[in-house]
Amino acid sequence: MKLEPIIGLEIHIQLGTNSKMFCSCDNRSELLPPNTAICPTCLAQPGTLPVPNAGALRSAIKLGLALGCSIAPRLKFDRKHYFYPDLPKGYQISQFDEPICENGTFTFHVPGTKVDRSEITIGIERAHLEEDSAKSFHGSSGETLVDFNRAGSPLVETVTRPDFKTPLEAKTFLQEMRLLVRALGISDGDMEKGHMRCDANISMRPVGDTKLYTKTEIKNMNSFRSVERAIAYEIERQTALWEAGTPPVIGSTRNWNDVEQKTTESRTKEAAQDYRFFPEPDIPPFIVGSLVEEMRRELPELPSAKYIRFQKEYGFSAIDARQLIENDELATYAEHVASEFLNWAKDSDPDANEDGIKTKSAKLLSGWLLSKYPGALNELGRLFTPETVTAENFAEFLTLIYQSKINSTSAMMLLKKMIETGDHPHHLLESENLSGADEGATSTWIDEVITENPAQVAGFKSGKEALLQFLVGQVMKKSRGTADALSVAEEIRSRLL
Ligand code: ZN
Ligand code: MN
Repeated sequence: MKLEPIIGLEIHIQLGTNSKMFCSCDNRSELLPPNTAICPTCLAQPGTLPVPNAGALRSAIKLGLALGCSIAPRLKFDRKHYFYPDLPKGYQISQFDEPICENGTFTFHVPGTKVDRSEITIGIERAHLEEDSAKSFHGSSGETLVDFNRAGSPLVETVTRPDFKTPLEAKTFLQEMRLLVRALGISDGDMEKGHMRCDANISMRPVGDTKLYTKTEIKNMNSFRSVERAIAYEIERQTALWEAGTPPVIGSTRNWNDVEQKTTESRTKEAAQDYRFFPEPDIPPFIVGSLVEEMRRELPELPSAKYIRFQKEYGFSAIDARQLIENDELATYAEHVASEFLNWAKDSDPDANEDGIKTKSAKLLSGWLLSKYPGALNELGRLFTPETVTAENFAEFLTLIYQSKINSTSAMMLLKKMIETGDHPHHLLESENLSGADEGATSTWIDEVITENPAQVAGFKSGKEALLQFLVGQVMKKSRGTADALSVAEEIRSRLL
C-alpha cells in the first residue's frame, strides 16, 4: 500500500509590541529579570480588567492581509479554560468562533534539487489573537519555577490547512513566515528565542483515499531543522505502524527530543479536551472598521513579490534573489547597485540582447556583493552598512570589472581601499596604481620563472599540461598577485610552445 503524509501546522508568533496584550507591562520579557515585567492585570488579581492592545490588533490584521485572509468585521475575544501553573487566570483570553483572520492562502517557493524553486500554495484556515502563558523552568531536583514576565504577551496563532506533503515544505513555510513577519515589522520571528513556535499535526493515508485518519500532534520543535526532522521521523514511525497493520487509532501528542532525534508520546487524546470556551465578558466586541483599509495601505512589498521581481527586473538567479531578500537593508542596497549598473551595462552595449546583459551583470553583481564583499569586510573587521561603499561607487566598481579594466586580484585590492577610504573607484585606481602590474614587469617575471625552473619547463614542453599552472603560480608569486593570471598563462604558452 502506498501512503502519503497529511501535514498541517499551527504557528504562534509573539508580536514585538511595546506592551503586553491586555496591560501596559513591558513586552520584552526575556530581556528583563524574572518576574519584573508584571502587574495586577497579567497576574490576574481580583478586580483587574483587560484592555486590548491596539498595536497587536494592527499587527494581526497586517499578517492576515499578507496571508490573503478575510478580516472579521468585529474583534471578539473568548475565554479558553485549562488549569496549569503558568496560566494565572485559569483561562487564556483567545478567540474561538470569530478569529480576526480567516480563509487565506500563502504561496511560496520550495527549494529543489534544481536551481529554480517550485511554487506551492498552502491554505490558511485562520489566524487569531491571544495572550501568552508564563514560562515554567523545571529544575534538576524536581522543582518548577515560574517566570510571569511572558504572561500576557500578545500572540497571533496561525492555523494552516493540512496541505503540506513533505517535511521540507513545512520547514520552508516557516522560514517564509519568518521572512514575512520581519518584512511586516510585527515580530522578529526568532524560533530560538521562542518568538515563533510551531506544532505539527501529522497523519498518513493510503494514496487515493480522501478521508483523514487519526493524527498526532508534535510539539517542542525549537528550530527550522528540528521541524523538518521531527516530521520526517513521525512519517517514518506512522508508516511502520500502517505497514504492520496497526495504524494509530487514538490521537496523541508527542514531544520532539532534539538530543535523541525522536518523538516520544506525552499524552493521548481519548476525547477532545473540554476548554469550556465562552465569550470574554470583560471585553465587549468592537467594530474593526476602517482599520483594515488603513493597514492595507501600510503593507510593504511582500517578500514573495520581491523575490519574483528581483529575478525579472534585474536578472538575479532564484538562489541569489532569495539570499538578497533575507536582509531588507542589503536588498535595498542591491537594488540601487543593480539599477545603476544595469543602466550603464545597457548603454555601453546598446546592440546586445537585454536578457543576456541582465544575466551577465546580475551574476557579476551577486558574486561580488554576496560573497567577495562580505569577505573583504570581514577581513577588515567591518560590518555591512549602505554607507561603507555607496551604491553608486559599488556600481562604478563593477563597471571596471565588466570592462576588464582590472583583474580580480586588483579588484579585490581596490574594493578594500574603497571600504577603508570611502573614495571613488576611479580616483583610487589612478592614485593607487591598482590597474594591475605593467606589461614590462610581467614579461621580466616570466623570463625569470622560465630560467629558474628548467625541469618544469621541459616537462611542460613535453606535454605535461598541468605544469603550466605551476609556472603561472611562480609568476603570480613574484608579482604578489598583481599580474593577470590568464594573460600570463597565454604568454608562457606562446613562448614555450
Ligand atoms: Zn501586566
Ligand atoms: Mn494558541
